[in-house]
Amino acid sequence: RPIGDRVEIGDLPLRDDLRGRTPYGAPQLDVPVRLNTNENPYPPTPALVEDVVREVAAIAGELHRYPDRDAVALREDLAAYLGSSTGVPLTSANLWAANGSNEVLQQILQAFGGPGRSALGFEPSYSMHPIIAAGTRTEWAPTPRRADFSLDVAKAASIVAERAPDVVFVTSPNNPTGQSLPLPDLRVLIEAAPGVVVVDEAYAEFSSRPSAVALLADHPAKLIVSRTMSKAFAFAGGRLGYLAAAPAVVDALQLVRLPYHLSALTQAAARASLRHAAETLGSVAKLAAERDRVVDSLVGLGFSVVPSDANFVLFGWFEDAHATWRSYLERGVLIRDVGIAGHLRVTVGTPEENDAFLAASKEVGR
Ligand code: PMP
Repeated sequence: RPIGDRVEIGDLPLRDDLRGRTPYGAPQLDVPVRLNTNENPYPPTPALVEDVVREVAAIAGELHRYPDRDAVALREDLAAYLGSSTGVPLTSANLWAANGSNEVLQQILQAFGGPGRSALGFEPSYSMHPIIAAGTRTEWAPTPRRADFSLDVAKAASIVAERAPDVVFVTSPNNPTGQSLPLPDLRVLIEAAPGVVVVDEAYAEFSSRPSAVALLADHPAKLIVSRTMSKAFAFAGGRLGYLAAAPAVVDALQLVRLPYHLSALTQAAARASLRHAAETLGSVAKLAAERDRVVDSLVGLGFSVVPSDANFVLFGWFEDAHATWRSYLERGVLIRDVGIAGHLRVTVGTPEENDAFLAASKEVGR
């Protein structure tokens, strides 16, 4: 037994506002078909792996030194990628990076949220937004979507204007529901917001809609677009998230970021991975086609499916979603119970994984 295991969390002088809360916890289980965390199912190509190994080998002799604190070369590469994929001219001054977009979002709330401030999100959405709000002591203002999980933008804008949160989160495509917002709708929300609007575009590469990056020139003091290499880029284990914003926003985040937060290993591996963007993102079209096949098959089996512009699908309806989640698991298929009544979320995998999921779906029924 570990030393100190007689002390329980309730015995600790923990902040009162953290007592009784539960941490983020997608189960990490070793089963044959893992479709629960929206990763890209295709591993890095041998050429990419070689490149990462070469880059890491090249800097291994420098590990006694701190990394580039400002990660300038990486930010230049990210600016080149995001600029070319959105058609918006960006420079490294517009980009900021951290260990996953979760850390980016935390830095945003450290700088623009915090005690006495509030953040608003349209739920159901990404569960980490309220958890990061809690960690930074930012008051969380949950605002409901329609029953079909779409967003009533006019109503949302009037709530934003009335509640006047310091930070608004808009997830597009939205996790876990999959719907995305067109630019005119995003513009309405940005114009209604008195503070900053974070468009969380973790799944943007899978979406058929243009990126909110196109709105940066018109709303430089308000808009922050957050992105990640964890999904389409197949780099979840590398931990690299980033944002695009006005340079002043990047300056503001310097006030809260820990020095040298991005290790030299992370920076080198991410740059190597970005050099292989074209081959990695080749999987995006394949995954989108597989998503459409999964959706059609689920509909054919009689499930109700929420339209998705991402690499996952929310579907139902289940009397007892958690019991159904367990039935999938018993068949070797790990999907996600996101806590929405009657629904489960499945990540789009390889054709073989999707076949296994669909075969299990036939058996578990509704
Ligand atoms: N935003 C959304 C909407 C997500 O779904 C996720 C991952 N589940 C993240 C941000 C964070 O991803 P990461 O920290 O790996 O970049």
